[in-house]
Formats: sequence, C-alpha cells, structure tokens
Amino acid sequence: MIIQLEKTISESQLGQLEKKLTTIDYKTNKVSTQYGDYIIGVGKKEFDIRSIGTMPGIRDIHRVSDAYKLVSKKWKVNDTQIDLGDGVVIGTGNFQIMAGPCSIESEEQIEATVAHLVKNNIRIMRGGVYKPRSSPYSFRGLGIDGLKIFYQKCSAAGIKIITEVMMVEQIESMHDYIDIYQVGARNSQNFNLLDALGKVDKPVMLKRGISGTINELLQAAEYIFSNGNERIMLCERGIRSYETAYRNTLDINAIPILKDKTHLPVIVDPSHGIGVRKHVESVALAGVIAGADAVIVEVHETPEKAFSDGQQTLNNQEAESLYDHLRRTFELRESFK
Ligand code: PEP
Ligand code: MN
Repeated sequence: MIIQLEKTISESQLGQLEKKLTTIDYKTNKVSTQYGDYIIGVGKKEFDIRSIGTMPGIRDIHRVSDAYKLVSKKWKVNDTQIDLGDGVVIGTGNFQIMAGPCSIESEEQIEATVAHLVKNNIRIMRGGVYKPRSSPYSFRGLGIDGLKIFYQKCSAAGIKIITEVMMVEQIESMHDYIDIYQVGARNSQNFNLLDALGKVDKPVMLKRGISGTINELLQAAEYIFSNGNERIMLCERGIRSYETAYRNTLDINAIPILKDKTHLPVIVDPSHGIGVRKHVESVALAGVIAGADAVIVEVHETPEKAFSDGQQTLNNQEAESLYDHLRRTFELRESFK
C-alpha cells in the first residue's frame, strides 16, 4: 500500500496515521523524494482503504501488492519524464539517442566523438571511465581525470554525459561532471550502491542484470526511488541465455512488459544486447518499435582500435545511418498511435 502525504501534514496527523496502520498490523516505511512524501505500508490484512484515505494530511492512497510499488504504473499512471536541462528530455514522447565509445580513451577520442555527435544533433554522450571488465588485465578506464576532460569537452558543446559508477565511493567525486549515473549490469543488484544513488540529485540509468528478471530490475529501481530519487531510467541490455551465437540475448519482450509495469522510461542497448556490430542496427530498430524511449549505442571513430567492445561498436558512418533510421522508426511508431 502506498499513502502519499500532504506536504502540510502535521506531526500529530502522521502519528495518528502510523497508529492506525499498526493496529491493522501493517509495517510502515517513510519515503521522502525530491517530489513527494510517502508511507509504504506492508501487511496482509484486508481493510477499507477509505478509512485511511479520509484521514487528515493524506493526499492519495493506493493498494499495490507487488514487491515494487513506487515505480509501478499501478501507482503512477502517467509516464515519468527525465529532464536533463537545456532542452534534453527523455520519455513521454521525447526520443533520445545516447552514443559514444564503450570506454573513454583519450582527449583526442573525446573531441572526435563530440564533433560527430554535434554534427548529428545528438545531445547525450556515453563513455565509461570506470570499466567493469571480465579480466583484471583488460583496460579498466581513465578514472576521474578522464571524466574531468570528458565533462569539459561535452559541456562546451552542450552535450550531456552518461557514465558508469561502480562504487558508492565514486558517487560524490563524479557528481559535478556527469548528467546521468549509469549502473551496469554487473551492479544491478548492488543494493548499497542503489541505496546511495537514491540520495543523489542526478538521474540514474539502471541496467538489467546479466541474469536478472524483470521483477528484480523493478525491485532494484524501487531501492533508488525509496531512498529519495525518482529520476530513474531502466535499460534492457540483453541477458545471458544458453545461446552462444551472439554475446547476449536482447530481450525485446522486456520493453513492452516494462512499459506496461512501470512509469519509468525504458532504454534499449543494442550494442551489448547482441554484441555483433553488423546486427546492432536491426535490433536497435526492433527496440524502438517495441516501445523504447531512448537508445544507447557504442560508436567509435575506429572501432578496430577501441580499447573495449570494438566488435560491437559502430564506426561513424554506420552510426549516421543508424541515427537516421532510428529517428524515422520512432516517427513511424508514433504514427501508429
Ligand atoms: C557498458 O555500457 O559499456 C557496459 C559495461 O554495459 P553493461 O553493464 O550492460 O555490460
Ligand atoms: Mn561496452
């Protein structure tokens, strides 16, 4: 059960509400976000919710029995929009492309990518400075110094940054140099990290775990929301299956299912989703038709020389064709409505 409180609720009204919930054996959690104050009640007893809904200081009440609640569409019917400022908006009919290399490698590489994005009117650049690598001997990113250059070049060009945060300890130092924190597939259930990202004032894009279910992804998002941050996006990036003909199995089904279950924007990552450069475009377009609000894609001037994920990275020319097809596909999808 979700109870939204009036901003003006008094201590004694809150006390009465908590007492009432205790008498019906409901455990309560208070959640305060940048947009509202809520009491999450967890219990089994049937009761008439009007007996709480009519109490003073209560704005709204809803029964949501799923394990995730505040991220559920059963609670918030209207889709969430993520506004990054300067006219860069994700969700509610605002389609975005986030493009860039798997890893930030050098100042020259950032400059070349920024020029490519500006030319193609792309407002969000991706690129990792902290890289989760299967082998400890692989390139693991330029760290905070690389991020500072990344930020300097992007902000001068009006481009927003999405980059991965791997540890709680990195959150603060990254804060002033990013626009979206990315939580990678390997950290999708790092609950301490999710708790901490709930306390920041920047949006978070949460990737689905390598073998994570949709339900687990939504509960992971609930961790962030219930710690105070409502600005969350979910990303389908492929799951591990028994198939070995490609890197991951992009779960196209997850996109309409997520759009149905949650009000949060849904992003598709075709690069990690299939892991094969020449097929990135077709699965990206499929993701858009399936309902994705944005696409995040790996692009590099010379993918053959990329420090990571070159095999799934598009060159500039392939990327330009993709952007055009993505935009046309999005228009086509919207025309079906
Ligand atoms: C990435 O975006 O480069 C990345 C490491 O993604 P994932 O967490 O989906 O593997
Ligand atoms: Mn990658």
